[in-house]
Amino acid sequence: MVVFEPMEKRGHEQVVFSSDPITGLKAIIAIHDTTLGPALGGCRMWNYKNESDALKDVLRLSEGMTYKAAVAGLGLGGGKAVIIGDSKTMKNEYLFRSFGRFVEGLGGRYITAEDVGTSVTDMEWVRMETEYVTGISRSLGGGGDPSPATALGTFTGMKACVKIVFGSDSLKDRKIAIQGIGHVGTYLVELLHKEGAKLYISDINEDNLKSVAKKYVCEVINNDKIYELEVDIFAPCAMGGIINDETIPKLKCAIIAGAANNQLERERKHGKALLDKGILYAPDYVINAGGLINIYNELQGYNREKAISQTENIYKILTEVLDYAEKEGVPTPVASKIYAEERIRAVRGLKKTFIGEKQLKLEQREERSADSLRR
Ligand code: NAD
Repeated sequence: MVVFEPMEKRGHEQVVFSSDPITGLKAIIAIHDTTLGPALGGCRMWNYKNESDALKDVLRLSEGMTYKAAVAGLGLGGGKAVIIGDSKTMKNEYLFRSFGRFVEGLGGRYITAEDVGTSVTDMEWVRMETEYVTGISRSLGGGGDPSPATALGTFTGMKACVKIVFGSDSLKDRKIAIQGIGHVGTYLVELLHKEGAKLYISDINEDNLKSVAKKYVCEVINNDKIYELEVDIFAPCAMGGIINDETIPKLKCAIIAGAANNQLERERKHGKALLDKGILYAPDYVINAGGLINIYNELQGYNREKAISQTENIYKILTEVLDYAEKEGVPTPVASKIYAEERIRAVRGLKKTFIGEKQLKLEQREERSADSLRR
């Protein structure tokens, strides 16, 4: 397994491996960039085929977190953890407490949270060993499930998109197709229903579809047909990689704005294909940052109003990113990366200047004391 080469390529600061034979813990924590603050990112538990796949995943995901936090304007860097193992059979208090001690050992450089394969309960076990964990329940002073915040951010981002494409940010009577009616999708349906949008929903889980269709006015669409609908917005809220060579030719929407992570199978290629096709794509990590904003607020002593208003600021940030893309004629995922990198570079520059000034003062003081000794 090659470690340093992919770290250098993606610009990682630190990768740490932990093994605890007593609890069976095999975990990797990747800290991508801490220029803006401690590296925050969820802990994914997955039955990886091999260790090399686990490393690849943690490096990729932690880099993504740096960009997500940077665009959202948070004082956070990017990190991620993976636990290698089956989340259905291997989870217990001892495993997660062992993971908690691993996190604690990093002294706050990395802050963990729930992710695919881990839950709020698991994080409460982690919390027994370290304070560097977020995404815990309201009863323990946390912000609870981040999905409503993610849905709110996505809803707000949709408004920013329709303002650019149609000139008004009202979603009333806008035709919106949502793929995936899970945690985020259901909250999103609720918000859009209130706003008076015309909704089309699809999901592979019949129970989810039935319960949502019973509560809100919406049309259930076959999973394969959701791409072909003539709608104003297509909102992927299920899986990643669904915007690809096969689906792009089918799309008849004006905008893609949804909560799913890593929607583009290949960021550059498919971002460009959407630009060429005249579809406005809201970069996923910009529009779905509400959940991250929510857990960031836990670190500051959770205040719901502040978390909501910061989430609603996604409207402004997304508008800036999309305007920049339009002005420069670049795909929107390229624009969001530039936006994030500029913020990191500016803060890094500030830090350097600060260190430079400190160094100068130190040198001047040393010179003065050497002078006085000479005298
Ligand atoms: P979830 O598991 O609760 O919901 C996903 C839904 O998608 C499920 O109902 C599932 O049945 C459905 N689904 C799966 N494959 C499908 C397919 N091929 N076609 C149609 N439906 C399909 O997950 P969630 O928490 O709602 O998250 C949804 C997406 O948003 C994920 O990509 C997640 O990574 C991303 N996201 C979630 C949050 C959050 O706060 N929960 C934050 C940021 C990003």
